Amino acid sequence: MSHLFQTYSRWNINIKKAKGTIAEDENGKTYLDFVQGIAVCNLGHCPDAVADAIKKQLDDVWHVSNLFKNDLQEKVAEQLTNHSTGDLVFFCNSGAEANEAAVKLARKYTQKTKIITFKQSFHGRTYAGMAATGQEKIKHGFGPMLTGFHYLPYNEPEAFQTLSGQDDIAAVMLETIQGEGGVIPADREFLQEVQAFCREKQALLIVDEVQTGIGRTGKAFGYEHGGLSPDIITVAKGLGSGFPVGAVIGKKELSEAFSPGSHGTTFGGNMLAMAAANATLNIIFEKSFLEEVSAKGEFLQKELKEKLQFPCIKEIRGKGLIAGIECEAPVQPLIEDLQKDGLLVLPAGLNVIRLLPPLSVAKNEISEAVEKLNRVFAHHSSVKQ
Ligand SMILES: *Cc1c(COP(=O)(O)O)cnc(C)c1O
Repeated sequence: MSHLFQTYSRWNINIKKAKGTIAEDENGKTYLDFVQGIAVCNLGHCPDAVADAIKKQLDDVWHVSNLFKNDLQEKVAEQLTNHSTGDLVFFCNSGAEANEAAVKLARKYTQKTKIITFKQSFHGRTYAGMAATGQEKIKHGFGPMLTGFHYLPYNEPEAFQTLSGQDDIAAVMLETIQGEGGVIPADREFLQEVQAFCREKQALLIVDEVQTGIGRTGKAFGYEHGGLSPDIITVAKGLGSGFPVGAVIGKKELSEAFSPGSHGTTFGGNMLAMAAANATLNIIFEKSFLEEVSAKGEFLQKELKEKLQFPCIKEIRGKGLIAGIECEAPVQPLIEDLQKDGLLVLPAGLNVIRLLPPLSVAKNEISEAVEKLNRVFAHHSSVKQ
């Protein structure tokens, strides 16, 4: 028997080796990996530059406490703030931890308590992460929840009117593309309304870029597409190319709220994680690299729309190298057939196939993946009729 808590119903694929877009299982079968550890391995599997940086750091020093000065943290913080609206960074180990810290920072700075988030959102599995998440299934059986969270419908600017009489709003927190919720991009008009609401209420704008950040959409951060100036940005997944690391990026006004003793972490900003993040950002935040991601993203979205014309597909959505194919029926059988055909993809909810190729993906790999999707959709369509 397995000695693991069965918190995941796992696929029967055991990856033993991987490089770039390609993953190989224990039987030597190879796959185009459009999961990449869920938007984590943004440079593909085992990227040389990151591997070299970690190997070098392994010989120098692995870990010191955050009670010590840390040049590597300063370096990565500079990279993150140079490419965002923030000025200051707190390093942690995961997306949920970053959101947890963001909620604490917002409440302490504003001295207000309410946090507005959105239906179908996903912000992680800690108590603040669950409370922020607008999906009941994530919270089931774990109550009582942290209080003070209110959920609005996503992409409905007029919904803010329901809050017009309310004060005590510390922050509005949102994903600029809902990832787990079904790959749902926010409209620009909606994002602008969110920002205007925050300014009116003197509430902080928190964007959760855990899935959409670090180049995924063709910009350093997804909020850039909506013309936002967030007060707090949270990142994790792609930041360390697979080495666990997260970060909260905030504007300098917030510095007084995170003062000595107010928040902390033993592992956050660990030197191996910083070496991985530094090497990752050196590549991804290059203008020419992001331009290429944009171009490949447009190619992917266009290919999907042109080649996948099946009545069982309701909508194809996305931005850059995150794409969602919404179907009429649950997608698990399609996902399993794609695995047999050598393509790894994710669900996002029951009815959406989510594609997260590495940002280093080659155009011909995109074409090959779309061919596999086409074959499997064609097969499922013919079986049904
Ligand atoms: C994955 C994810 C999280 C949670 O990150 P963990 O590292 O799993 O804690 C939070 N927010 C978003 C948008 C995510 O996609």
